[in-house]
Amino acid sequence: IISKFNTLEVVFMSDCIFCKILAGEIPAAKVYEDEQVLAFLDISQVTPGHTLVVPKEHHRNLLEMDAASASQLFAKVPLVSQKVMTATKAKGMNIIANCEEVAGQTVFHTHVHLVPRYGADDDLKIDFVAHEPDFDKLAQVAETIKNA
Ligand code: AMP
Ligand code: ZN
Repeated sequence: IISKFNTLEVVFMSDCIFCKILAGEIPAAKVYEDEQVLAFLDISQVTPGHTLVVPKEHHRNLLEMDAASASQLFAKVPLVSQKVMTATKAKGMNIIANCEEVAGQTVFHTHVHLVPRYGADDDLKIDFVAHEPDFDKLAQVAETIKNA
């Protein structure tokens, strides 16, 4: 009984806004749908055409997905991205997955943001602060990650 309950919980969460969209309980501007994923316009439209690709199975975020589920999701990212690029005639795109609150996640059902880019002065701001390379430190951190 417990394992059946857990299985259901992974597929659908009744208090999850994206599960509600998937169930047709609340509307979305859909752009692509198949057995595994639904893609719809992000309600915030950070730039025109900003789209979310969402797996039909409920997972909190990518950090909690196994290879098979993540593969099914990412397999569809090129197709949907290309459709968005063609339709918007954008010059480029940021493809982003925020995982956990500290990384900006606000909806806890895995989603991939496709944010078309039109120029440096459009409304997506991503600030990578670069640091002077410390090669000993890099080797140390790489070793820790390798062994994790
Ligand atoms: P994140 O901050 O990465 O968790 O992204 C969640 C995104 O979901 C935000 O960009 C919201 O604008 C978007 N969002 C929230 N509710 C809806 C909704 N009902 N339909 C479409 N997008 C939504
Ligand atoms: Zn969900």
